[in-house]
Amino acid sequence: MVRNATPQPGWKPHPGPVPILVYHALGEAPPTEEYPGLYVSEPEFEEEMVWLHRQGYEAVTLDRAEAAWYHGGTLPTKPIVITFDNGYPAQVTFAPQVLSRYGWPGVLFEITEEHLRPSEIRPVIKLGWEVDSHSATHPNLTELSGSELEYQVAASRRYLRRKFHVPSDNFCYPSSEYDAATIAAVKEAGYVGAVTENAGYASRDLPYELDRYEIEGGNGVEGLAADLASGAS
Ligand SMILES: [Zn+2]
Repeated sequence: MVRNATPQPGWKPHPGPVPILVYHALGEAPPTEEYPGLYVSEPEFEEEMVWLHRQGYEAVTLDRAEAAWYHGGTLPTKPIVITFDNGYPAQVTFAPQVLSRYGWPGVLFEITEEHLRPSEIRPVIKLGWEVDSHSATHPNLTELSGSELEYQVAASRRYLRRKFHVPSDNFCYPSSEYDAATIAAVKEAGYVGAVTENAGYASRDLPYELDRYEIEGGNGVEGLAADLASGAS
């Protein structure tokens, strides 16, 4: 277990907003990639984590932030949540090596019927990472209803809970597409919160529309610094 997987002495109550970052693939984008910005190179990722550490940020899980928002839990002075969408190998091999240097857990939003194998996910759960659902197959949820929507939202959570014995209390909307019916399905499935890709700091006032900063390749430390400064109150 990494240090910040559990509350530490000196952490304080923190009802206020918390920044959440989202990374997609880590590594070099293939030349044919349509959206190369979704790839952050490993050196760039590492520089961003070093910068956060030097700025005094400390990563925690989203569960921990929610415990502070809703149940009087505590957080470090400058908390941040670092999330990884879809489930790519480097997110559970390279990223944990870097985060663990600082005692930081990450949050993996896994597409439960694609991407990583259980044997690839278990090591990060051992480190104290949070593993949550990013749906079963990454469809646009606003185009689904009834049992199809239930399957993507609720069955994907049941799968993670059964397979890994983790709470999976948070959901991640595929491609940040959601509407009132999607939010209702997420609540119905028992989730505590859900994340978007709307830029901003996540606030306890909007538990099913938690903002995140999408970190793109090439924007580097300056881009990250500008994001964090833009949302700071
Ligand atoms: Zn996604």
